[in-house]
Amino acid sequence: MNFRGKVSIVRYMMTYCLLLIALFSLFTVVAVNFMADRAEEQTIRNKMSRQLRATAWRMSLQDGKLTLLPSKKIDTRLDEDFEFVILDQDGKVVFGEYPEDLKNLTDKIKENEFQTIKTEQSVYYVLDKSDLLNRILRVKDKYRIRGMINEDDIKTVYSQFKLYSYIGVAGAVVLVILMGMILQKQISVPMRDMCEQASQISEKMDLSERMEYSGKFEELDVLIKAYNSLLRKMEEVVERQEHFNSDVSHELRTPISVIRAQCQLTSGQLRQSKDVSVEKVIEVIDRQADKMDGIVEQMLSLSRIDQGRWIMNFDRVDLVDIIESVCEDEEDRGKHPFVYHLKHVFAEVDIDLITLVVRNLVSNASKYSEDGKTIVVDCGEDGNRVFIRVKDFGCGISEKDLPRIFEYYYRAEKSRNSEGFGLGLTIALKIARLHGGEIRVESEPGFGSAFTLFIEKERSAILIQPALDQPFPDQRRE
Ligand code: ADP
Repeated sequence: MNFRGKVSIVRYMMTYCLLLIALFSLFTVVAVNFMADRAEEQTIRNKMSRQLRATAWRMSLQDGKLTLLPSKKIDTRLDEDFEFVILDQDGKVVFGEYPEDLKNLTDKIKENEFQTIKTEQSVYYVLDKSDLLNRILRVKDKYRIRGMINEDDIKTVYSQFKLYSYIGVAGAVVLVILMGMILQKQISVPMRDMCEQASQISEKMDLSERMEYSGKFEELDVLIKAYNSLLRKMEEVVERQEHFNSDVSHELRTPISVIRAQCQLTSGQLRQSKDVSVEKVIEVIDRQADKMDGIVEQMLSLSRIDQGRWIMNFDRVDLVDIIESVCEDEEDRGKHPFVYHLKHVFAEVDIDLITLVVRNLVSNASKYSEDGKTIVVDCGEDGNRVFIRVKDFGCGISEKDLPRIFEYYYRAEKSRNSEGFGLGLTIALKIARLHGGEIRVESEPGFGSAFTLFIEKERSAILIQPALDQPFPDQRRE
């Protein structure tokens, strides 16, 4: 089945869900990160401020020398991750020292500002304080204390938030994929299953079959019920049509035979009594009865083939014999000269059926071309197949009609005045398919048409019983 240009419902829903989740996640991650960064910065800043104050309280200045006194109070204890230096007015370190990887970047640090400095290995938070230290040491604007914390050493609750937001997004994506897999199982699989069932029904053209759906979705159930009801209706229509064909042809057959028998009897008697005018009337009736018989014959053959009641009798035959037997009759009418390119090729066929096809093709060639126009018939081999081609130089078939000429009862508008019923090609195609073959048409309006019947040479090559109601073949122009 061709699904070009179509997408699976589940894939469609999943794409939208994933897009939505991606957008939502992006927004969430950006918002969480932004808020967490702000809150984290504030927390670190407060912590550093506290540590700087504690450091200031523990500093003492004796004889111009700074020392760090041991802590006596809880609120003057320094955290392990906190480092500090004391700078003089010129920014020179007079107490403590910078962490190793920060030493070369000290000129980047701005005074009295909370900032982050990126070193090669990590990131440092830096904050200065001066007033309190100078007051405690009783000096004026002499020292500045600078605190530093390595980002790797502080774990705030906010970095956990960030982590949770990433886990949340990953979780949502996994959930959507899981949901997609479940939907796939519950919607896509039964739908594909239904399509499979539908195409099998149409391939076998077994309208008595019904589709099944045991899933829980109401919409799919409604679809199946609608499809099954359509199948039921089609089955009824086809049955009615088949019965109609069969009944009508049976009903007509007997009176036609009686009329024909009576005509032949009467015309024989009249010929002896030399009553020519009545004999002509009888001939007309006989000819009309003949045509009706042809139509009935076609309907009967079609209904037998359709109902599978035609018992195929395969015989090995030279196609030339079939062609000659059909064309002789047509040539006797004297309407068209015939040209033959015949090769003696043998095939295993049902002689009656193939004769019927050739008769239909030859009679169409004669019907749809003016008197006097040549009809060319040829036959030969084509790989494992044999072919019979009937070519005329008649009215041809328009582009609009070409794809429909094999349909039941289809007749092109301009053919309506000629005798016929629109069943000849339908029967011919069905017979071709029963022989594992096909019919190809090449036609040019105003120039003529060529119909080629292809069939398998060997009966064994017809592997499967061909579906009689396959779509009609694509036809091409010359
Ligand atoms: P019909 O009994 O009308 O001939 P067919 O099934 O044999 O029915 O043909 C269907 C239609 O195809 C015809 O009505 C005619 O319009 C067209 N057709 C068939 N054979 C030819 C041909 N050789 N040249 C032109 N038109 C043709």
